[in-house]
Amino acid sequence: MTVQSGLPQVTVFSLGGTIASTNSPGGPAAGVRPRLGARELVDSVPQLSEVAKLETVAFRQTPSGDLSLSDLVSLAAEITKRFDTGDMGVVVTQGTDTIEETSFALDLLVRGPRPVVVTGAMRNPTLAGPDGPANLLAAVQVAASPQAAGLGTLVVFNDEIHAARFVRKTHTSSPATFRSLTAGPLGWMVEGRPRIAFRAPALQGTPTGVGEDVPAVALLKSTLGDDFRLVEQVEALGYAGLVVESFGGGHVPARVVPVLERLARRLPVVLASRTGGGELLRETYGFPGSERDLLSRGLIPSGFLDGLKARILLSLLLAAGAGPADARNAFEQLNMSVSAPIDARAGS
Ligand code: ASP
Repeated sequence: MTVQSGLPQVTVFSLGGTIASTNSPGGPAAGVRPRLGARELVDSVPQLSEVAKLETVAFRQTPSGDLSLSDLVSLAAEITKRFDTGDMGVVVTQGTDTIEETSFALDLLVRGPRPVVVTGAMRNPTLAGPDGPANLLAAVQVAASPQAAGLGTLVVFNDEIHAARFVRKTHTSSPATFRSLTAGPLGWMVEGRPRIAFRAPALQGTPTGVGEDVPAVALLKSTLGDDFRLVEQVEALGYAGLVVESFGGGHVPARVVPVLERLARRLPVVLASRTGGGELLRETYGFPGSERDLLSRGLIPSGFLDGLKARILLSLLLAAGAGPADARNAFEQLNMSVSAPIDARAGS
């Protein structure tokens, strides 16, 4: 690949996933697996040499469900080194299954204004119309763009630019799977140029000093008629915290309130919504098991974070040594940073 001088420096880290998956030695009948590394991915998109001076790192080669938060802590340290040595931005390619979690972890872990852009593919390279090459090109175009500075970690996919804090995977196979249901995408790509329509403010309340030993945090979804007997086991199983994905704006069946209250006296218990959009309510409903009831009994409101992202934040806070009060403050601050007045954001 020929590289033009004067181009911004960008590193591409590959972690596996569909974008890197091809037939195994057993042939097509055995199914595809992650086999390609960052260098092969970059070399398959010749247009990249006109966008950035690229370095490649094959960091992991795995289905994204096999990644761990410890992997993400190590990756964030590697990304920080790249920024220290002059990278304008960094691209991470990985499986789409966990991008909504990994990208938010990187958003919390990587400091400074330079962008981390996460992408992947829904159609693997053996299929007609694979989306990986176009997604990789767009991701590098965003990472190399001065406009992307200060936006935190981004997910660039299907020609849309999403903030990691809002984005979700919403479809098992569509290339348009990534959506930011509450806020919408920050922008889009046109003819190779990123268009940033909205700027997300810098996140406050992010954990500092996160170690690679990340305590386990459980995530439980409320379901009709469930009695939450799993909650009784959370502490005995060694979890350091719990996120409850409640019904609607923040509700659980009345009969499970005492067990949640008991647990919240011992561990941080975060209340999120299972709906996938909008913000947790705080002051509307007053029935037993309502958001007002649960918050008055010590549960921590997740705000706009869905259950998956609340679990990432709580896990990394605990890995940084935070106690329940610190965790409560961090959730509060992070939510405040998103609703800060425009003037306050401009300086951030
Ligand atoms: N289906 C996944 C993907 O889109 C597999 C994975 O997440 O590794 O990449």
